[in-house]
Formats: sequence, structure tokens, C-alpha cells
Amino acid sequence: MMMNDAVSPWSVPPADWRRVCVEELGEKAFRGDQIASALYRQFAESWEEVSTLPAALRQRLQERYPLRPLEQVLLKDSDDGSAKLLLACPSDGERIESVLIPSKGRLTQCVSSQVGCNFHCAFCASGMLGKTRNLTAGEIVGEVMAACRYLRAKQPDGPGLDEKGRGKTELPRPGNIVVMGMGEPFDNYDEVIRALKILNDPKGLAIGARHITISTCGVVPGIRRLAEEGIQFELSVSLHAPDNLLRDQLMPVNKMWPLDVLMPACKAYTEKTGRIITFEYTLIRKFNDRPHHADRLIALLQRLPCKVNLIPLSPVEEFSGRRPESGDCKAFLDRLLQAKINTTLRFSRGKDVDAACGQLRLRKRVDER
Ligand code: SAH
Repeated sequence: MMMNDAVSPWSVPPADWRRVCVEELGEKAFRGDQIASALYRQFAESWEEVSTLPAALRQRLQERYPLRPLEQVLLKDSDDGSAKLLLACPSDGERIESVLIPSKGRLTQCVSSQVGCNFHCAFCASGMLGKTRNLTAGEIVGEVMAACRYLRAKQPDGPGLDEKGRGKTELPRPGNIVVMGMGEPFDNYDEVIRALKILNDPKGLAIGARHITISTCGVVPGIRRLAEEGIQFELSVSLHAPDNLLRDQLMPVNKMWPLDVLMPACKAYTEKTGRIITFEYTLIRKFNDRPHHADRLIALLQRLPCKVNLIPLSPVEEFSGRRPESGDCKAFLDRLLQAKINTTLRFSRGKDVDAACGQLRLRKRVDER
């Protein structure tokens, strides 16, 4: 079998393994359940370690569905409890980053959807080097599996497996997934949705759809497609500015889908799905953090079922914008709250591990030069 016929087992919907066993591998259907359980309960990283399967089947799986975990290149633990993983893809060694952030008793994992990004937001380190390629569904799921292995290793006395490979207690896995790492998820729609469905699947990692968030810089066709998907994933839209003049300066994507196209698509999404949208708004000193910006934002969001997440800019060398003053952040927050817009002010976590988008990969590239 040639390598390019090979499929990552992490890109196969868990329920399909029964069919694959019967139709492709000439095995009994129950082997399919064992395979799904090996992948998502046992967190197997090689077929060799799956002793519940006969050796001949393991061999065939290795040929047709080789298990090739992402290699952990670097791990940075932050003082605030977050951890950053720099991972290398087994196919070509490309590096991607993923961050684990504890919040409200849950662990949130921020995953990447592409190697680099083509959208070139002015303040974002991921876009500085452009896009190298899309990640496959198997690689995106692989990011989460790498986190699961990391979490399990961290708590050797914690949740274990019984002799049948079933979890004795709660699995050591992230409680929330946010697609807010490197890349634009709607520029890689099919693979991202495929991966998220696998993570959501009860036979996969069983992470509730409402605990899975996709964040877009405003790719309107993606918003429209997600509305038709019939799945309850959360949608976040990176807004960052209340008018086209400002948004054009920060986000080239606004030339393609300006606010007068983006906002109606958001409205249509909320009507179609009955769900709210979270708008991300990065506060940049004196650029978009003045009271009149808040007022324009309030006007823009009028009558839209939404939440706003304010994030003080995490400065990057390549962008001249500065971190806002905390008093201005607070005033901006209060103004939105007063207008009855559900708003949170989120201080960046994991600053000491370069947890902002793309920063670690950029740093590592620069270090290696
Ligand atoms: N492409 C998607 C997801 C990746 S970025 C999107 O744009 O939504 C995830 C979030 O981090 C976005 O809201 C992005 O604008 C924000 N972000 C990127 N760089 C940042 C920085 N230096 N400071 C603060 N927020 C940043």
C-alpha cells in the first residue's frame, strides 16, 4: 500500500469504524468499537499498544490507517496554569501551536486550523508569515489527542483505564475547544468541521457542541455555511472595530466582506440557528478604545443577540499599536454594559509563554535563524 493512500485514523468519524471493519478490513463490526475506544478512551498513539486487537488487524491498520501522533517539540508551562504546546506534523515537520488554559474549573484548549494564515490582521503574529498549508482533520484532532496524552501524563494517579481500556472516571481531556490558534478556520472549512464533529462525537472525545467554539475573522461564506450545518457549535466573530474605516486598517478581510455584508450575515446566522454570536474586540490604545468607539459598537450591535469579549491587545513587535490603559478598558466595558450588551473583559492569559496567536511559532522560527 502506498503512503498516500493512507488515511489518518483521527480523520475517520468514530461510528464509521464498524463499517470500515466489515467492508474494508474483513473483520467483525465489534472490532470497530474497539478501535474507536482505543483512539478516544485509551488515547493510543500506535496500533502496537492496542493489545485488545489481533496482531494481524493491527498490522493492516498500520498500513491503511497509520497512527502518527504529532510530535511535541516544546512545552511551556505558564505561571497562571496555562500551557503551550508546540507540535510538529509527522508528514512534513510543519509546526503548529496549541494552548491549554484553565478557566472556571474547566480546561480550554485553543487549537490551530492552518499552518500560518493568509488573512494578515495587522496585530496578529500568525499572519506575519502567510499560510503554508491547511491542517487536515486528522492533524486538528491530533492536537487535542496530544493534549489528552499530556494531561494524562501530568496526573498519573488521576483517571486511569480499566483492563478493557475504558475510562474508570472522567477522561483527562479538555472541557472546551476553541479554534482560535493559528489560521482562519473558515479558510479550511471542511477539515475543521470534520475534526470538530469527531471531537464532539459521543464515541470520539464527547466534547459537547456548546463547548466547541469556532472563531472567524469574518469570512462570510463560512458563517452562512455554519448556519446550515445543524450543529450547535459556538460562533465567535473577530470584529475589533466598529466601522469600516478602522476595520480596513486592521483587517484586510474587511475589504472583501465589509461590515455592511458581515453584520447581515451575522444577523441571518442568529435567526437561522437561534444562537447568539460572540464578538471579539481587541482593544488598542487610542485606536479603538475611546468612548465614541464604544458608542459606535453599541449602535452596530443593536438588536443582534450577541455577547462581546473585550481583549486588551497583546503587543507584537511587528505592530505599532499599544496595549490599552486598564482604566480605558474598564470604561469601555462599563459603557457596553450600560447599553445592556453582555460584555466581558478578558485579560490575556499565558503572556509569559507567548500564548497569543502565532507568537510561539514565530519566536521559534526567529530563534532558529
Ligand atoms: N482567524 C480566527 C481565529 C484565530 S485568532 C479569527 O480571526 O478569529 C483568535 C483571536 O485572537 C482573534 O480574535 C484575533 O483577532 C485575536 N488576536 C490575534 N492576535 C492578537 C493580539 N496580538 N492581541 C490580542 N488579540 C489577538
